[in-house]
Amino acid sequence: MTNDAIVIGSGIGGLVTATQLAAKGAKVLVLERYLIPGGSAGYFERQGYRFDVGASMIFGLGQNGTTNLLTRALSAVNVSQEAIADPVQIHYHLPQGLDLKVDRVYEKFLQNLTAHFRHEEQGIRRFYDECQKVFNCLNSMDLLSLEEPRYLLRVFFQHPLACLGLVKYLPQNVGNMARRYIKDPQLLKFIDMECYCWSVVPANMTPMINAGMVFSDRHYGGVNYPKGGVGQIAQKLVEGLEKAGGKIQYQARVTKILTEQGRAVGVQLANGEIYRGKRIVSNATRWDTFQQLLPAEEIPHNEKKWQQNYQKSPSFLSLHMGVKQSVLPEGTECHHILLEEWEKMTAVEGTIFVSIPTLLDRDLAPSGYHIIHAFTPHWINDWQELSQTEYEARKEEAAWRIIDRLEKIFPGLDAGLDYLEVGTPRTHRRFLGREDGTYGPIPRRKLRGLLKMPFNRTAIPGLYCVGDSTFPGQGLNAVAFSGFACAHRIAADLKL
Ligand SMILES: Cc1cc2nc3c(=O)[nH]c(=O)nc-3n(C[C@H](O)[C@H](O)[C@H](O)COP(=O)(O)OP(=O)(O)OC[C@H]3O[C@@H](n4cnc5c(N)ncnc54)[C@H](O)[C@@H]3O)c2cc1C
Repeated sequence: MTNDAIVIGSGIGGLVTATQLAAKGAKVLVLERYLIPGGSAGYFERQGYRFDVGASMIFGLGQNGTTNLLTRALSAVNVSQEAIADPVQIHYHLPQGLDLKVDRVYEKFLQNLTAHFRHEEQGIRRFYDECQKVFNCLNSMDLLSLEEPRYLLRVFFQHPLACLGLVKYLPQNVGNMARRYIKDPQLLKFIDMECYCWSVVPANMTPMINAGMVFSDRHYGGVNYPKGGVGQIAQKLVEGLEKAGGKIQYQARVTKILTEQGRAVGVQLANGEIYRGKRIVSNATRWDTFQQLLPAEEIPHNEKKWQQNYQKSPSFLSLHMGVKQSVLPEGTECHHILLEEWEKMTAVEGTIFVSIPTLLDRDLAPSGYHIIHAFTPHWINDWQELSQTEYEARKEEAAWRIIDRLEKIFPGLDAGLDYLEVGTPRTHRRFLGREDGTYGPIPRRKLRGLLKMPFNRTAIPGLYCVGDSTFPGQGLNAVAFSGFACAHRIAADLKL
């Protein structure tokens, strides 16, 4: 029997699509090239440590409202995930002594920030309150496909003010909004960093819709770490998928999306096997989908236009470290951002992102030890065409540059190092199946908010995209949104 939907890839975007469709009774097959599900939200184990490969600051695992999409996706297929509340989203260590914590409690965060910028007290509150307005609009409605007119009408009649609010914010970027309320140049740089640390572009290129979510949900649903590691989310979704009658195959690399008379009808695997489906969903990046899985020379016009507006962000150099407990000073928080010079914020090895998940879940490391995952942007071009010896040497040099800088916040890190594994953009490309190991699309120039980010349907009938190459972009909760929307659109198309 033909599958109702074939999903290429088991990232969170792909799995949310698959579970939502299976829950609606569709016959779903997920094909994953790797050994386990999760993609950038996967994990690996070494010497008693369980490392998250990428994401670790998790939104969407809260209990209330409508924006807790990971919780909702799990419960739709009758599974759940224990979540550990993180009391501080980020501890920033920024230039000019700007050292501050983003507390889970909104008022505390505002107080912490205002303590550094007394003269901007009013502007700070107004700016972040504006972000709360975006969030309140989103958090009052079911988040489904914006390509489904009946849903749009229903939501509009149920929540007219919230909808009009969102329409107002859709074309806006954070930079303009911040400058409306804030004048202090250092504070504006801080807002740049607040955006950059998840959107990987400064405020003037970060859409207000995404910022409204992140800057508000951290104080509402909060940042919560999944007990057992981030990989658990994907594992649980797979469990739910199978319970609902869906199937997943690992080591099943799709090499071709098959078309007949211009319509996507199936896929071919690297081993030659062919599967047919009424609908095909790609959870690979748009670059992989339209240049690798489909003939590059036939790339649809709207995809060419998209590539004129968006480019691949850099990948990362990742250090997965196991360290002695003594390395972490008393009161250390789980997530840190380190930058010494504002000018280097977006540069290679400029900003360092740090995550120490064992502060929330001790079971991820052997007793007396912690995990430190540190990563910083890097381009694949700097890692190509090297001999194995050159590659290893370059990895080692880069790793020690990062460790030296981290000594400032974790004195004794070098001496307390028990395990070190270094991932490069090549590692990201190989294990995550993402062209050039990219973190995802970023605007080439200042665009009007999110208006140019595509939804799930593509120019090829029967083919949909899901994940961070679609509206609203990167992040687990964002790709979960994309998954809900994609499944909703397909269910409407299949009349499920
Ligand atoms: C270092 C790092 C840190 C991050 N930190 C955070 C964070 O703290 N919080 C947060 O919310 N987000 C974070 N992110 C971003 C987040 O992880 C991603 O945006 C999100 O996981 C992307 O999900 P996705 O569904 O789009 O696809 P992916 O995770 O890329 O999954 C796609 C899947 O498709 C499979 N696939 C690809 N091609 C094929 C093929 N041809 N055949 C079969 N299978 C295929 C891949 O193997 C993969 O499993 C981070 C990312 C990285 C890399």
